[in-house]
Amino acid sequence: MTNKLKLQVYHGVEASVNAYIFSDGQSTVLVDCLRNSAEARLLAQKIKEEGKLFTHILITHGHPDHYTGMNVLKQEFPDVKIVVNTQEIKNDIIGFSSWMESVGWLEKEPALKPKSESNPLGFDYQELIEVLERNELRLVEGSILELNSNYSSAECAHLTTIYSEDLNAFFANDFCYNVVHPWLAIEKQSIANWKNQLAEFSKTLAFVDPAVYPGHGQPGTIAMFDDMAKYITDFEEVVANATSRSEAMEKMQSLYPEYAQADFLLVYSVNEFVRG
Ligand SMILES: [Zn+2]
Repeated sequence: MTNKLKLQVYHGVEASVNAYIFSDGQSTVLVDCLRNSAEARLLAQKIKEEGKLFTHILITHGHPDHYTGMNVLKQEFPDVKIVVNTQEIKNDIIGFSSWMESVGWLEKEPALKPKSESNPLGFDYQELIEVLERNELRLVEGSILELNSNYSSAECAHLTTIYSEDLNAFFANDFCYNVVHPWLAIEKQSIANWKNQLAEFSKTLAFVDPAVYPGHGQPGTIAMFDDMAKYITDFEEVVANATSRSEAMEKMQSLYPEYAQADFLLVYSVNEFVRG
């Protein structure tokens, strides 16, 4: 086993989203690439400072807080491969970007508008995003990142988690938000699946007891799965009983006063379930 694998966590500002930089003696792999191009430029600088061969950007799932920076990174590093673990995730990314363009959300990030007949200079998602053939990414010196996307729809329709034996670290991706309000503007069935999967992680990972890295917020331990499940249960209760959106917002913020992104992620989640 190699123990040369090094991890740097890059905590993005917008949406409190994380990017993860893995390096060995010779190469670098990036997991996710932040919510906007300005922050992605700082991330690119960090990767340049590593001074290694930058081989892959893995996008874990089709939400823009995890992939908007990819155009900047691709321009800074033309040879890097942008990869996803399954075709479904590639489809999610293309679907989300097409939708964002249709509602005007890409006006701030015009380079991410999909390439089309009317926009031949747009981002060529089909061409530039590759689907991996095996559920793993390998660094040049042999360290392996084990990928798993075999989950039911939860925070997103398709999510990828990563386990590194070298680091004994589990990257729960958006199954976990640590002290950040999670995105819960999703179907009730997906919320149920999400809680089931958290219980499953608690059980199956107890023995190896890895460090747990969330999609948003600071790393922690496997206790994060129970904390996350409790938050979701509290949210379900609050939105079921609230008579107004502002009441639900207040209640959640009083239960979780130190949680970030109330004005963005929590607002959308509450609005999905509470009318008026
Ligand atoms: Zn996210």
